[in-house]
Amino acid sequence: MSISEKPMAPEGSPPGAWRSWPVFRQPPGLVVYLVLLVFVALFLFGVAAAQTVFTAYDLTLFVALTLCAVVCVEAIRRIGIPEGVSRDLLGAWWLPAMLLLPPLYSLLIPAPVFLILQRRSRRALLHRRVFNAASVGVSGFLASVLWNSGQNGPIAGIGGTSSAHETLTTVNGVFLALACCAVFTLLNTLLVFFAARLSTGAGSTPSMWDREALLVDSVELCVGVTVAILAQLSLFLLVIAVPPVLLLQRSLVYQQLQTAARTDPKTGLLNAPTWEQEAAAQIARARSSSGQAAVLIVDIDHFKRVNDNYGHLFGDQVLLGVATTISQQLRQSDLLGRFGGEEFVVLLPGADTTEAWQAAERLRSQVGRMEIAVDDVPVSITISIGVAVVGDHGDDLVELLTAADLALYRAKETGRDRVCLPAGRPEVSGKIPGPREGETHRAGGSSDQL
Ligand code: GH3
Ligand code: MG
Ligand code: MG
Repeated sequence: MSISEKPMAPEGSPPGAWRSWPVFRQPPGLVVYLVLLVFVALFLFGVAAAQTVFTAYDLTLFVALTLCAVVCVEAIRRIGIPEGVSRDLLGAWWLPAMLLLPPLYSLLIPAPVFLILQRRSRRALLHRRVFNAASVGVSGFLASVLWNSGQNGPIAGIGGTSSAHETLTTVNGVFLALACCAVFTLLNTLLVFFAARLSTGAGSTPSMWDREALLVDSVELCVGVTVAILAQLSLFLLVIAVPPVLLLQRSLVYQQLQTAARTDPKTGLLNAPTWEQEAAAQIARARSSSGQAAVLIVDIDHFKRVNDNYGHLFGDQVLLGVATTISQQLRQSDLLGRFGGEEFVVLLPGADTTEAWQAAERLRSQVGRMEIAVDDVPVSITISIGVAVVGDHGDDLVELLTAADLALYRAKETGRDRVCLPAGRPEVSGKIPGPREGETHRAGGSSDQL
């Protein structure tokens, strides 16, 4: 796993402009974390270099594994690498280095590979590349020390020996190797997780442990250990390991690009075209089977003020917070998307007017309770929701969205922080919930301190 590589600013900055390097625009906690990790990597390098016995076999294997990783980088560079925390199968080459070579090589192997990535693939923010290399290196080193200690005892672990080769020929040895590789994945994921947390703020940590990610990590472990077994039989067998790893790597990148094309990068929700496509199909199904469904349009109240008062980055955190809160309130079968700006859309399959109203009220009250801190001061926001129901307010997606939009307009006109049906329809609860009194710290409210 690695943090995404955002493209770099153009080159050719004037001398002394180092203060404007992107790394110095990161949160201070993140900068300290990055610097610390690089120092730890350098320290470990110094300690390990003093204890490692360099042999021609080790150096040849190191070069061979590095070349295999470079071949993989070259093969996928034209497809492109998706934004966000992305996963690759380069572990297929780090893990054999971890299992077959002294730990020093695990620290070293990411350096040339990330250098090639930087030069041959899309150029990325340098501090992200350095962080990713240091994270893979330190995690690989620690896991390799653990593995070598298992063979040679704790003291000899840092220097490493070739007795690991024999262990990999037994079933128990292979399971032990898998366990050590799992330690590597865990450490690397944690290091990336903390960096992402420091970079985005505690309230909006991206998820790193979904089912898909675990599946990719497990495949990487299996491939890495398989390649290690082949390589310890003979270096030449690495040649037959490259094509399947390449194919897996390419299909993984394709799958990540496909997901990226369907989702909104800020919130991780479906983007508008994908939501519309899927919602239209579900509504058509509901119509043909005389089933029911409802559409909600959710709009954050006075969101412009949030940006104006706390900045766009905070605004983005609010968007992510609202997206997360709404998705936690929905069923698996409901379809949630970001419609654009500060608007979200929800399709509730099978919902009649009462159920849609109740669901919308639940979203409104949960988002109203949500608090996001600015300088330790909690800020809360409100949302307005327009509801439209299949049959009552429209027969297809366009009609339903138009009706829900009208209802949303009503909600805004009548004071915000409420759920409305389209005009001319009776309100389900018998009364429209009015604005609550005494709310003075609502970022969207009219009496707040923004
Ligand atoms: P209302 O209660 O009437 O909906 O008022 P509002 O301020 O929420 O609506 P308005 O349409 O005036 O402003 C929407 C704001 O949303 C303006 C725009 O800068 C902001 N916005 C849109 N997309 C994003 C985004 O991705 N991130 C951030 N931070 N702000 C965004
Ligand atoms: Mg809006
Ligand atoms: Mg708004």
